[in-house]
Amino acid sequence: MLYLDHAASTPLRPEVRAAMDPFVGERFGNPSGVHATAQQAKNAIEAAREQIAASIGAASPLEIVFTGGGTEADNLAVFGAALPTRGGIVTTAVEHAAVLESARFAGRLGMTVSILPVDHVGRVTPAEVAAHVDDGTAVVSVMMANNETGVLQPVAEIAQGVRAVSSRTLVHTDAVQAFASLPVEVYDGGPDLISVSAHKIGGPQGVGFLYVRDGIELEPVIHGGGQELGRRSGTHNVAAIVGLGAAVEATIAEREGYRTRVAAARDRFEHDLRSRINIESTAGEADRLVSHSHLRFPGIAAETLLVRLDLAGVAAAAGAACHSGAIESSHVLTAMGIEPAAAAESIRFSFGRDDDESTGAIAAATVAGVVEGLA
Ligand code: PLP
Repeated sequence: MLYLDHAASTPLRPEVRAAMDPFVGERFGNPSGVHATAQQAKNAIEAAREQIAASIGAASPLEIVFTGGGTEADNLAVFGAALPTRGGIVTTAVEHAAVLESARFAGRLGMTVSILPVDHVGRVTPAEVAAHVDDGTAVVSVMMANNETGVLQPVAEIAQGVRAVSSRTLVHTDAVQAFASLPVEVYDGGPDLISVSAHKIGGPQGVGFLYVRDGIELEPVIHGGGQELGRRSGTHNVAAIVGLGAAVEATIAEREGYRTRVAAARDRFEHDLRSRINIESTAGEADRLVSHSHLRFPGIAAETLLVRLDLAGVAAAAGAACHSGAIESSHVLTAMGIEPAAAAESIRFSFGRDDDESTGAIAAATVAGVVEGLA
């Protein structure tokens, strides 16, 4: 089995599983209580918070808000930042649905939403973002790297451009895909809000965090018992949070080696494929994550190819789906100006931490063989 869908989810790291294990079992306490069993759970959560804060260079552990995953972190960032002032939201057409749909929801409640177009590889320019910002803009949300293509956005320059126009506007970045391979660090003038999800980095599904720069008041999107200093109510998923902390630590410790190995896998894959069959890279020459390879196979239907690849033991993902006879491209590919017919011939392969150059070679041989069989 060649699992080339790490952008969708990654296998749980053994050390993460080991760290979580006691909290799935005998350490079951609710961290909100006062007794020893509860305190054991609370201590584990606070240790994870400290571990994560230190890993990303946050000034204080209190800047880390645990959430039920990347989607919830994005909702809290975008909607939670806009609601207190009912200010505007500026984002891009290639964001994950968690950001786009949060922005659209805010729009339905009367807030101003600007969804900026992107170029043919899915990038937005800092000048374009800044041109849409004023003191009435509550939040700008631009992802570090796209989940479909892996293409990077110039987030540092965007943040700088936003600050030059308005000191009131918060900057959010969705680092869910980027975290595995790129440094995600807090710095002066950088993003005020950063979303991360555990299951893209060898942690469990359904847990993540939002970094919230000290002093920022977000309106919570989940109301209840006031956990997470009132920013995210609900009994903590202690085992998942412990797993998130362990996954963040392991990811950062291994990031450099990961980058080298995964780049070798992906580059060998594309090189070998190119030497045998006709492919086009959706990302063109744009800077992108080492893990992602979004390719078009001209003349081959992605849906058919995915099924044949699955039969050949290769797991990948499509960027367009066929709904009742009509091809529906992903919003990302549409925003890049890719025609539905071309999107319907495109597939995302995403490599992970156990892959290296040999995986890339085997994957290319298998994919090329399947494509040749279909041609
Ligand atoms: N943001 C990006 C860029 C993603 O790729 C994903 C997951 O696919 C999410 C947000 C949502 O994260 P989660 O699956 O943890 O809700």
